[in-house]
Amino acid sequence: MTQTSQYPHMLAPLDLGHVTLPNRVLMGSMHTNLEETKDWNRVAEFYAERARGGVALMVTGGMAPNREGGVFAGAAGLFSPEDIANHRIVTDRVHEAGGRIAMQILHAGRYAYSPDCVAPSPIKSPISPFPPKELDEAGIEKQIADIATSAARAREAGYDGVEVMGSEGYFLNQFLVTHTNKREDRWGGSLENRQRLPVEVVRRVREAVGEDFIVIYRISLIDLIPNGQTWDEVVALAKKIEAAGASILNTGIGWHEARIPTIATSVPRRAFAWVTKKLMGEVGIPIITSNRINMPDVAESVLAEGCADMVSMARPFLADPDFVAKAAAGKAETIAPCIACNQACLDHTFQGKISSCLVNPRACHETELRYEPTDAPKKIAVVGAGAAGATVAMVAAKRGHSVTVFEKDTAVGGQLNMAKVIPGKEEFVGFVDWIAAMLDAPGIDLRLGTEATVDALEGFDEVVIATGVTPRDPGIPGQDGPNVVTYVDVLKHGAPVGDRVAVIGAGGIGFDTADFLTHPGGPTPTEELPRWLEEWGVADPEAHRGGLDPAGPQPERSAREITLLQRKPTKPGRGLGKTTGWIHRASLQMKDVKMVPGVNYERIDGEGLHVSTGEGREDPRVIPVDTVVLCAGQESERGLADALEAKGVTAHVIGGAAVAAELDAKRAIDQGARLAAGL
Ligand code: NAP
Ligand code: SF4
Repeated sequence: MTQTSQYPHMLAPLDLGHVTLPNRVLMGSMHTNLEETKDWNRVAEFYAERARGGVALMVTGGMAPNREGGVFAGAAGLFSPEDIANHRIVTDRVHEAGGRIAMQILHAGRYAYSPDCVAPSPIKSPISPFPPKELDEAGIEKQIADIATSAARAREAGYDGVEVMGSEGYFLNQFLVTHTNKREDRWGGSLENRQRLPVEVVRRVREAVGEDFIVIYRISLIDLIPNGQTWDEVVALAKKIEAAGASILNTGIGWHEARIPTIATSVPRRAFAWVTKKLMGEVGIPIITSNRINMPDVAESVLAEGCADMVSMARPFLADPDFVAKAAAGKAETIAPCIACNQACLDHTFQGKISSCLVNPRACHETELRYEPTDAPKKIAVVGAGAAGATVAMVAAKRGHSVTVFEKDTAVGGQLNMAKVIPGKEEFVGFVDWIAAMLDAPGIDLRLGTEATVDALEGFDEVVIATGVTPRDPGIPGQDGPNVVTYVDVLKHGAPVGDRVAVIGAGGIGFDTADFLTHPGGPTPTEELPRWLEEWGVADPEAHRGGLDPAGPQPERSAREITLLQRKPTKPGRGLGKTTGWIHRASLQMKDVKMVPGVNYERIDGEGLHVSTGEGREDPRVIPVDTVVLCAGQESERGLADALEAKGVTAHVIGGAAVAAELDAKRAIDQGARLAAGL
């Protein structure tokens, strides 16, 4: 078998008529907030690095066609000759790197975070504070003209194509369904009228750009909202969009306001490829599938099974710009995996910060965080092969240093090994495997099962302490009893847990542990798509409008009766990820996990957990449970760091060993990468 034949479908060229793409991989649109920095060299380098990595075609983050259509005030777009010249910097750099790039035109409609937002009807979205203005006939014509003008400018700026965003509940999608379109003129009412706008937009875009230019239309295949499109409507639209001049149909899954996760870690891999497959054969132009495709074998299987002609992956290109080149070289195990956590990408985007990636802090920081070869190779000792230590070792070795890693455990990955046993976090298995593969590299001497001592660290040029954290002792009377365990006992050592459980601490680990305990063991819904679809109430769109099961979510019963507690009076789970916290909360609510804030922990005894409320310790009561699980946060593991300091040895202390509060893998990896880049 030759190396490339591992992924024959993924690496096959795609003939679009005027141009042939070298493979079937598209980098999907991501709003990184990079364009808004106006540092065009930085934007160009972000895309050029990915072009060098072999992806066939990239789509930019959404560009506003006009001010009212921008996702937020000040959103980037092609509004002036200067904008066109700036985008030229990007397209030139991509072309020099041998790549191709299309600009996404995104009109947000009622999702625009602005009082000036416009829509087919004046119906506020549940995820925006602003009621939109209803467009009149002239207003609609202006939107179409602006989108077509934007496409023409994209061509002028050197793009190879445009993607017209017609899914995810944005402007064009809002015209398609009665949920948001109550119009009675020629733009609403009948199906033909509701579909008129997207079809007219594509026709005018094609007219504006000419024939030899890629026009992708992102079509919503399953709206996942009440009164969404029927499957027949979707197929009819696809045919009209093709006839109007689109070159490719890309898949959109679910509106942003849908209460069904579509891209988070707990969504099964390739969870929606079956929807795209339904469209295959209905149109003559290529169809792209997307959502939770993150590794070459997943992409290959989707294409081999005829679910699509091409795959779109977005976040995987933040995690590893060289995804395609590594797959083609038969080195898939070295691809940094996107674990779909959203922590550094979408969570950043929605906080107005520059996106990056938890596993690859260089993403969107290509010009500033550079791993240059060293001209003064050093002997570096790293203690701890968790997220922070492993990153230091990988980056330092890549730069040409000689690294010795001491890990007292018999496996690499540290705390990540606990994350990987959480149902819905199966992606962490691949993450830890990748760390292991990357530490098995020239220049790295990995010593597993080896506890570093002060003496063993003598003779190195640099010492890095990444010894991580230990669980915090909450000091609750009775916590030494036989019915009390820590999350480490449960997740790492498989300690037995009774049927009725109190989880103390509702941070990320408390939520994860509660989730773990709701499951009876065995494969999880994330590993068995039909169960996951049923759990969240996703139906075949051919059977039910919008793909929503009229019976609603059908969660499986919890294996245990669980109470999750915290001392703060605030809503539990408030500190979880911006774009994923609601999924964690909904998952536990579906399993009837009781969430109790604002308690004092009085004591634990054979009866269970005794708590009271408020400063006056009112309402003393017992929560009758068989087991109490402590998830009360962490403290730094500083034994070795302190011993070195006492001997006057200078060491770099990073990750949880430096600061345990609000430690997560994102911070640990970023800190490790930045330290190693400068050693
Ligand atoms: P955490 O987020 O700091 O939460 C610790 C919990 O323990 C809080 O609910 C806190 O609530 C409670 N607590 C703190 N001191 C206590 C004490 N003395 N007695 C009793 N309760 C106490 O820590 P974590 O849950 O261990 O998670 C660690 C980090 O891992 C997090 O910062 C997070 O970033 C990361 N993580 C993230 C995820 C995710 O889903 N994104 C999942 C797992 C872990 P009160 O003080 O109100 O009682
Ligand atoms: Fe993927 Fe998480 Fe990186 Fe985002 S931050 S690209 S979801 S690994």
